[in-house]
Amino acid sequence: MREEIRGVAGLAGGRAGHRRLAELIPLVLNGLAEGTVERGAAGPAGGPAAVAAGVAALTGTDPLAGPTGVGAEQALSELSRLLAAGSVDPADPACAAHLHCPPLAVAVAADVVAGALNPSMDSWDQAPVASELERELVTLIARLCYPQAPAPDAVVTTGGTESNLLGLLLAREPAPTVRPVCGRNAHHSVARAAWLLGLPAPVLVDCDGGRLRPAPLEETLRTLGAPAVVVATAGTTDTGEIDPLRDLADVCRRHGARLHVDASYGGLALCSAKLKPLLDGLDEADSIALDAHKFGWQPISAGLLAVGRSSDLAALSVRAEYLNAGDDTEAGLPDLLGRSIRTSRRPDAFRMAVTFRALGIDGMGALVEHCCATAADVASAIEADPSLRLWGAPTLSTVLFRPARADELPAATGDELVARVRRTLLEAGTAIVGRATMADGVWLKLTLLHPHATVEDYRPLLGSVVTTANALAAEVAGSAVPG
Ligand SMILES: *Cc1c(COP(=O)(O)O)cnc(C)c1O
Repeated sequence: MREEIRGVAGLAGGRAGHRRLAELIPLVLNGLAEGTVERGAAGPAGGPAAVAAGVAALTGTDPLAGPTGVGAEQALSELSRLLAAGSVDPADPACAAHLHCPPLAVAVAADVVAGALNPSMDSWDQAPVASELERELVTLIARLCYPQAPAPDAVVTTGGTESNLLGLLLAREPAPTVRPVCGRNAHHSVARAAWLLGLPAPVLVDCDGGRLRPAPLEETLRTLGAPAVVVATAGTTDTGEIDPLRDLADVCRRHGARLHVDASYGGLALCSAKLKPLLDGLDEADSIALDAHKFGWQPISAGLLAVGRSSDLAALSVRAEYLNAGDDTEAGLPDLLGRSIRTSRRPDAFRMAVTFRALGIDGMGALVEHCCATAADVASAIEADPSLRLWGAPTLSTVLFRPARADELPAATGDELVARVRRTLLEAGTAIVGRATMADGVWLKLTLLHPHATVEDYRPLLGSVVTTANALAAEVAGSAVPG
């Protein structure tokens, strides 16, 4: 009995942990391999009902488990295979809807040892070397963001959402009545952050052509008459455009407003000497949100918030006797609790540290460049195809387009056709394509984060968009309410 429990409840760490993992990890890898072959496409076929039925067929009538478990080997084998067979796989080029990256194998492998040792980043006595590696990682990121600043710093977050929340929090600390101001192109998490912090809803500035412009921002700040925190975006969610950061920073400085840049998407283009000029003026920001689970190729989550002045982070400091007693800190134990709004915290920095060490900054930059170059090639392929229409030249790696067929229909019907094409491809598992609602209608969106795919990998996807639009056009036009 004792042995049996040790088997199923064996530990990952300690002297024997690696041996137990060596037994189990091959089962996970087999499940990954077999499930991927079983799926045979970018995503599972059949939509939500088929996926739910597949899970229920395996787990039976009880949700997941009755009183007796099936054992570690069976649970891992079956569920790993099920997960792989029923997932959309961002490592398939046809899975390109969101800023949802295919993680690098080196980062995933690093997570095994991090998971086994389970350092928790809220106190040094739970994470001695992990906290030191995190310190190096955030220093690297802070220097990348603020090459001229004497004392920049950065903290690890769960992603852009938390980083934007922290950006507004750091603005509110010295100015409790601060008004958030952002472009209509800003991510929804900015308004949510304001709501969570008890700040007024952001003042929304109209964006001419998808970017926040200095003149209307200046006008807004002039009439506001309150301390403001402006949120600019470097890589918008819908189109990947980058606000004119240096000009916006000048406006903010003239009006004494704080500037937070949401560079969750575009920020790690800083790793590429070629792309870096796109982010000109970024280091004028007071705080910057970045996401290494987009460009950065980390498993979720891997967010960062960089600040130009490390003293700004003092706003996060908090004392909890059991984690960072004053005498412990005085005796030289690093105080980690103030480096996050969370307490227990995963060592996400570890796999980021391994990845940066493996690739170097240039290596990371080359992957970002590859995605942006591929987006430009895909845009050219769309432009050259009369059955497709390109929205505009990509700035980063986002490409918006529509089947030309949709333009032959009344506007609302055309939009319905575009939306139906997306759902049809998703339900078939053929391609996972995003959507963006722009002033002139609904567009299909490809967000290219595959660091090896080329335009040739996207031609079949473009072909299925055209074929599906042609197949659905008559039906959609027929069901349209005449207007
Ligand atoms: C992805 C993204 C976010 C949200 O980040 P999460 O990591 O999903 O929390 C916020 N803003 C922008 C511009 C983004 O691209």
